[in-house]
Amino acid sequence: MVTENLAEVERRVQAACARAGRSRDEVTLIAVSKTKPVSLIEELLPGGTRDFGENKVQELCEKCEQLPGDIRWHLIGHLQRNKVKYVVDKACLIHSVDSLRLAQAVSQEGVKKQVTVPILIEVNMAGEESKFGVKPQEAESLIREIARLPAVSVQGLMTIAPFVSDPEENRIHFANMKKLCVDIKGKNIDNVNMNVLSMGMTGDYEVAIEEGATMIRVGTGIFGERKFGERLETMQ
Ligand SMILES: *Cc1c(COP(=O)(O)O)cnc(C)c1O
Repeated sequence: MVTENLAEVERRVQAACARAGRSRDEVTLIAVSKTKPVSLIEELLPGGTRDFGENKVQELCEKCEQLPGDIRWHLIGHLQRNKVKYVVDKACLIHSVDSLRLAQAVSQEGVKKQVTVPILIEVNMAGEESKFGVKPQEAESLIREIARLPAVSVQGLMTIAPFVSDPEENRIHFANMKKLCVDIKGKNIDNVNMNVLSMGMTGDYEVAIEEGATMIRVGTGIFGERKFGERLETMQ
């Protein structure tokens, strides 16, 4: 089932890339495996999928231990400072940094473990109260401060768009995010790359690709509905 689902998502990703005049290899498809068993992840490995997304540190660490070492684990959920030490050397990218204090904790741990930790800055593009993420107008100053830390490396931006029935409603947020990214990239801040735009989920990844996403995070579309009716982790 999951391999068929993945094939369908892949087909749509290719179509969206074609519509946007983009090359397929500009977009990384992250299979969001949160709450799903290791056995389902294993079904996707023979086909070559290696990017998986988890929103909880403990779950990421547990799955990481049980699965091959060449999997790239993306931490996409909110990160608490006291969990940073468990994840810096396991995640290939932390998508959800939205404060200087958190970035400082990540950098401190990076120094300790002698690694530079790639991160994205989470931006709350739609200004939703329930969501984590920095305000768009505060992103640049936060990035400037984080850029001075010794063991983190800002790679770009991440956003979680509102839950909408018509993905077209999110087009404006994705377009604004792309603009913000280009804007900050143009400032040429030392130690900052603005090459990654992590945006788009099951409901809206095609629109996100059309608007410039370089990473999409697809859970339900690949693994099916999650239990508990949880869609994603918000502040409530
Ligand atoms: C759960 C989650 C996703 C995937 O959501 P789907 O709608 O199931 O594709 C993407 N991004 C984040 C941050 C999530 O927590």
